[in-house]
Amino acid sequence: MAVGILINLLLLVVAYLAGAASAAAEVSSWLDGVPSEIASKLDSGSNAAARFATDYGGVTRAAYPAAVFQPSTADDIAALLRFAYCAEPPFPVAARGNGHSVRGQALAPGGVALDMAALGGGRNRINVSSEGAYVDAGGEQLWIDVLEAALRHGLSPRSWTDYLYLTVGGTLSNAGISGQVFRHGPQISNVYELDVVTGKGEMITCSSESNRDLFYGVLGGLGQLGVITRARIGLRPAPARVRWLRLFYTDLGNLTRDQEFLISLPDPTGFDYVEGQVLLSHQRVDGSTFYSNQAVDSINRLKGESNTIYFLEGAVYYDSPSMADQKIEDLMKQLNFVPGLVFSNDVTYLEFLNRVHNEIEKLSSSTVLLHPWLNLFLPKSRIRDFQVGVFGGILQNVNHTAGPILLYPLNKHRWNDIMTATVPDEEVFYTVGFLWTAATVEDWGTFDALNNEILGFCDQNGIEVKQYLPHYTSKLDWARHFGLVKWEKFVQLKRRYDPKALLSPGQQIFTTQVNNKEGRECMHAKL
Ligand code: FAD
Repeated sequence: MAVGILINLLLLVVAYLAGAASAAAEVSSWLDGVPSEIASKLDSGSNAAARFATDYGGVTRAAYPAAVFQPSTADDIAALLRFAYCAEPPFPVAARGNGHSVRGQALAPGGVALDMAALGGGRNRINVSSEGAYVDAGGEQLWIDVLEAALRHGLSPRSWTDYLYLTVGGTLSNAGISGQVFRHGPQISNVYELDVVTGKGEMITCSSESNRDLFYGVLGGLGQLGVITRARIGLRPAPARVRWLRLFYTDLGNLTRDQEFLISLPDPTGFDYVEGQVLLSHQRVDGSTFYSNQAVDSINRLKGESNTIYFLEGAVYYDSPSMADQKIEDLMKQLNFVPGLVFSNDVTYLEFLNRVHNEIEKLSSSTVLLHPWLNLFLPKSRIRDFQVGVFGGILQNVNHTAGPILLYPLNKHRWNDIMTATVPDEEVFYTVGFLWTAATVEDWGTFDALNNEILGFCDQNGIEVKQYLPHYTSKLDWARHFGLVKWEKFVQLKRRYDPKALLSPGQQIFTTQVNNKEGRECMHAKL
């Protein structure tokens, strides 16, 4: 088994090396003919390429781009894409946000990596509107910077990711989810307008009213239709502080019943944030972050008694402490956690939203480099089957795992099905995130095999999961992921906005194809 995994990994690396080398040879043929305004921002040196040859996942090393492009403005991106479109052969371009993908989705083997961080030349491109209804943020901006800019006006976007060192363009190309989604929808449901540069180098402003097919296509569109250079994001008043709670369960049924109850409550009666986690029998909690030493002892005692335990994570935003206390007291009476096993912290709103940062920093400074994550959306009707087969089955047979397992419900009506992002076909569905960390390539292979086993279990048992931050390598799997209607629409949008399939090749959805009509258009443009 281990030998098989190693051979597969070796093949993967060799395939990447071979792919990168041949594509690089092809691409280098156009490097000489690059117009000067593009050439001055293009770095084909090996140091630059090496920096863009891997991502947070860490296994797609050696997927070197032929060059790195550092745009100062959206016009620079448009010029590069017009040139790429008309080059012979045309070459791929991948926007790279913060490179926090885990399966090479932001890589451009043999093509051009678009260093989004260069936009604005180091100047922050975040502007809160004068009446405070929205913030305009560059696609390259990190959400932490958007938050801090909005907070200076006493405002905040509504919907978040757990970790804020991700880019606006990167999360809007997926969905952007966290414990606020049940109430406000994912980040893609909170965008009013986008500036996009298409795969033909056109600069288009789009919204629900103008160029709506591009607007909805780009949201959750995995970088396939254009590069987001600006997003207009809705704001609301920011609370001052947050009561942050963890409630423990030994029974998954009680946990999910309480989570589903909480996400059914209208604003402002329930929690403002609802998530949850699974703790397997061999996993221990430590006192370094959330818990006191006494709390750690109580939790680990409970773990000793019950195999797998769970916690519900909730938060109440507040300006008035007494109102928060009253609300929490009322809600607690209606929940079914293990008596006494509830722990809380009181933090500022910024500290709460930025809560994961320290843990990620700690991990990054250790030797752990690889992140073979698997994120799924699971229909509510199959959560019990999933529990039996995965938490109580597959995962009981492994004696070590590292990294949290997230589990919390979302409401489908908060998602707009016109968008490219795709979710299960039930009003309530769960997000399950296996956020594994691996110290070695062999370890990565073990987790990858575990992920495949989980996916295989779902397949064999007809559990229609959707991958979040999806990773597929065949057209058939992509078509299955989107479903026939959505897939056909996505293909049509791709033909229209990126007909030569230049954008974000690391998603492995479309391969370069030359369309005759577009070819003529290009000849025209060249003349
Ligand atoms: P990249 O990884 O650089 O890019 C992602 C994809 O989008 C690539 O295909 C890229 O080509 C494309 N892209 C990048 N920028 C643009 C742009 N401006 N326009 C068009 N396409 C673009 N996700 C959640 O939803 N919730 C979470 O709580 C969450 N937590 C995370 C925590 C950590 C530690 C990590 C590593 C990831 C987390 N993610 C989470 C996943 C994250 O949303 C994705 O990795 C996402 O891709 C954003 O990362 P990025 O900005 O670095 O984008």
